[in-house]
Amino acid sequence: MSDSTRHQSQDRLHPESRIVHPPLAETVGSRPMGVPLHQGHLFAFDTSDALSRSFGGPDGAFIYNRHGNPTVRSLEETVADLEGGVAALATASGMGAITTVLLALLRAGDHVIAQRSLYGGTHALLADLAERRGVEVTHVSGDDPEEVRAALRPETRLLYLETVSNPTTRVTDLPGLIAVAKRAGVVSVVDNTFATPLLCRPIEHGADIVVHSATKYLGGHSDVLAGIAVFAEAEPHRAVWRHSLELGAAVDPFAAWLTLRGLQTLALRVRRHCETALDLAGRLAAHPAVTAVHYPGLPTHPDHELARRLLPDGHGGVLSFDLAGGREAARTFTESVRLASLAPSLGGVHSLVLHPASTTHRQLSDEELAVAGIGAGLVRMSVGIEHPEDLWADVEQALAKA
Ligand code: PLP
Repeated sequence: MSDSTRHQSQDRLHPESRIVHPPLAETVGSRPMGVPLHQGHLFAFDTSDALSRSFGGPDGAFIYNRHGNPTVRSLEETVADLEGGVAALATASGMGAITTVLLALLRAGDHVIAQRSLYGGTHALLADLAERRGVEVTHVSGDDPEEVRAALRPETRLLYLETVSNPTTRVTDLPGLIAVAKRAGVVSVVDNTFATPLLCRPIEHGADIVVHSATKYLGGHSDVLAGIAVFAEAEPHRAVWRHSLELGAAVDPFAAWLTLRGLQTLALRVRRHCETALDLAGRLAAHPAVTAVHYPGLPTHPDHELARRLLPDGHGGVLSFDLAGGREAARTFTESVRLASLAPSLGGVHSLVLHPASTTHRQLSDEELAVAGIGAGLVRMSVGIEHPEDLWADVEQALAKA
């Protein structure tokens, strides 16, 4: 039954039917401020032909939320625009975006070149692809295009990078590494979660696909789990979208709506995260309990020059630092903060601290931790948007105990 038929016959129906088919109120003479939440998971059609046509691709009429949804589409178009891509696919989490992209693009026998220091979940996914799906993976450092060139094989299909590494905040030479991949016809995928599209747009540096944990800065308020993949060209988007139907990777519309709401303040939040992180990094570097601070905004950071070119508008909200007292000092510090919280995740309005060696990176051996630059006394801090003086007072009192 079409909407118009339904409305005409509404008064002849029994109450049981009328409450299942309430009128769809339309805004006439005004328009909504912001993107409406379309939570319903299916859409009705007037003709079988129209329904049939909508199955064809990501651009057809909305049919069922696993295929697409208007609220989700608004999020996809917003982030695609920010990243300079042609289309995007929003997913239920950042790992959902990464898994969907990799499973859609890779087949048994393919070879992947990936940065060594990746988010733990991505690392585990690549290990799983190698062990169970016949994909070979070579790890590289992320700062040497020659290493990528040397790793190339005829069957190399994909280069996987992160703009800024976790937790040591090394900045990846995206232009240099991607240029090598491009010349060899290898697809480049960049996780841009730490930088956000306001600080770095990997597609401008040649990347084919950008992925995000929208759970972090894009959502920004620690109240939503979501991911998104942005595509520089339409064809890979279609291929990954098609595969997402099989994986069931779709994001819930409410999560997409929350992400859109959070995105509206992204520029304000990111500016504040960057300013406060730089301020804290400088103060930490001068503190006697701290032996090293890792923040690309500091002139002492090994990638400071690259960061100035790649992240000209700020260096992000994550920093890490080594405590002279080692593992015990890190434990005491993370348990002594009061304004900041001991918690995983990052990129939200609240400041968070954690000890990577015993939490996010605990699966790494001592040798692997050493290669990744993760010392026993390393603390990671995701700097929130609280007042910098309050944050420093909190960090200082926790340092005094550590
Ligand atoms: N990529 C990076 C850089 C991350 O830090 C994370 C999570 O911490 C992810 C991907 C995974 O995102 P999600 O937790 O939304 O699945």
